[in-house]
Amino acid sequence: MKKSIKVLFCSSEALPFVKTGGLADVAGSLPLALEKLGIEVRIAIPKYKGIDKTAAVVGKDIKVHFIENDAYFLRDGLYNYKNVDFPDNLDRFSYFSKRVLEFIKEINFKPDIIHSNDWQTALIPVYLKNLFIKDEIKDEFYKDIKTVFSIHNLAYQGIFSKTEFPKLGLDWELFNINALEYYDKINLMKGAIVFSDIVTTVSPTYAKEIQTQEYGCGLQGLLRARSNSLIGVLNGLDYDQWNPMKDKLIPKRYSFLTLQDKYINKTALQKESGLEVNDKIPLIGLISRLADQKGLDILAGCLDEMLKRPLQLIVLGTGEQKYHQIFGDAEKIYPKKVNVTLGYDAVLAQKIYAGSDIFLMPSKYEPCGLGQIISLKYGTVPLVRKTGGLADTVIDLTENPDMGNGLVFEEYSSAELLKTIDRALSFYNNKTYWKSLIHRGMNADFSWKTSAKEYAQLYTLAASKVPS
Ligand code: ADP
Repeated sequence: MKKSIKVLFCSSEALPFVKTGGLADVAGSLPLALEKLGIEVRIAIPKYKGIDKTAAVVGKDIKVHFIENDAYFLRDGLYNYKNVDFPDNLDRFSYFSKRVLEFIKEINFKPDIIHSNDWQTALIPVYLKNLFIKDEIKDEFYKDIKTVFSIHNLAYQGIFSKTEFPKLGLDWELFNINALEYYDKINLMKGAIVFSDIVTTVSPTYAKEIQTQEYGCGLQGLLRARSNSLIGVLNGLDYDQWNPMKDKLIPKRYSFLTLQDKYINKTALQKESGLEVNDKIPLIGLISRLADQKGLDILAGCLDEMLKRPLQLIVLGTGEQKYHQIFGDAEKIYPKKVNVTLGYDAVLAQKIYAGSDIFLMPSKYEPCGLGQIISLKYGTVPLVRKTGGLADTVIDLTENPDMGNGLVFEEYSSAELLKTIDRALSFYNNKTYWKSLIHRGMNADFSWKTSAKEYAQLYTLAASKVPS
C-alpha cells in the first residue's frame, strides 16, 4: 500500500474552537477534506482562553494539539484587544512557531509537510530551515520535513520593529533584504515566502494579482521571483454548514425545487428588520467587515443614488467608525428601506444569506471571499467586483448569458457599481433570467472536494522537492 502523506496544519485560529476571520473557516474545514482523501493530518493552534484541554479530535481521527503558554494565550482577544494590537505579538507567535517544531519531536510525530498560514505561523518555515535543519545541528528528525505556506490576506504581513529581532533567536544575518528584513523592519510573511518550499494563496486570480504593484503590498517583486512555486487554490465551502436545505437557523429551509420557500425567509427578514414587508421589492444584503478593502467607499459614494431605486438594503457588519456612521445615517433617513446591524451576529448572517435577493461584495481586493460562495448556495445573486476569488467564482450574466451566475463589474468606482446595481434590478424584473441565475448559483459546487485534491497534489510535490 502507498504510504499516506502526513501533514501538520498550523494556524492561529480554527473552527470549531476559535474564530476571528476566514482563516478559521479554512483551518476548520480543509483538514477534514484532506482526511477524506486519506491524508494523515493533525492541527496545531494556540491554547487560548476558553479552550480547556490540551488536545482534541475532529473529523474521524484528526488530532488537534493546543499549544500552551498561559502568559501569552490566556487573555481576551487573539491578536488585539479593543482594536489595539497586543504589544507582545511577536513574542507570542514566535513562541508558538518554535514550540510547534519542538513539540512534534517530543511526541514523535514527524510530518512530511508542515502547512502554515498567514503571518502568525510564518516563522515556522523560517525556524525549520534556519535553526532546526541547519547543517551543524544535523537533526535527522527535521531534515526531510517540507513546508507549505498559505497567504490568506497579503495585507497583514506581521511587521515588527528591528529592535525586537534578538527575541527571535535567529542569526542577525537573516535580517537582510533576501530574508526577513523589509524597509528596516522585520516582516514575518516575507520570511515565509522566502523559506517555504511552496507558497499558496486562496484563489488563482489573487495569486496573479499579488505579483503586481497594485495588489502586491510591497512584496510583488519577491512573489514574482517565487512565481514557479506560487499557486492559487480556491478555498472551499463546507456545505454541511452552509446549505439552505439543512440550515436550522433560518425560518424556512428550501432548495431550488422549493424556491417559493426562500421568499418566506425574505418576508420574515423584512419583518424582523422593520423593512417594508413585500416580497416583490429586491432586497440587497451586505455582510462584511466594514473596512476599505470591502469596497465600502465606492458604496458610500453611490448610496444616496442607490436608495432612490426601488430596493431595500440590509447591512450586517462591524469595523471602521466612518462606515458605522454612513450606514447608520442611511437607516435613519430610510427606516423602511435600510436596516443596519453593527456587530457580529452569525445567526442574523444566515438569515440574510437566505432572505436576500442580491448579495453585495464590491471589494477593492478579495483574496478568496466566502460571502459570494455562500450566497450562491442560498440562491442569492452575488453582485461583485472582478477581483481575486470573486473573479474566480462569479460569472457575469450580461457577458456570459449561458453561464452567468451573478453580476460583475471591473472598474473600481461608484459609477460602475451603481450601473451594475441598475443592471441587477432590470434582470430581477425578468423572472426567466433571474431564475436561471439562481439555478446556476445553487447548483455550483465550491465545496472542498476539488480544492483539497489540489492541496494533496501540492503536498506530494513539496515532499518530492530536493533540499535547496
Ligand atoms: P474576510 O475573511 O476578509 O472578512 P470572507 O468573505 O472571506 O471575508 O469571510 C467573511 C466571513 O465572515 C463570511 O462567512 C461572512 O458571512 C462572515 N461575517 C463577516 N462579518 C460578519 C458579521 N458582522 N456577522 C456575522 N458574520 C460575518
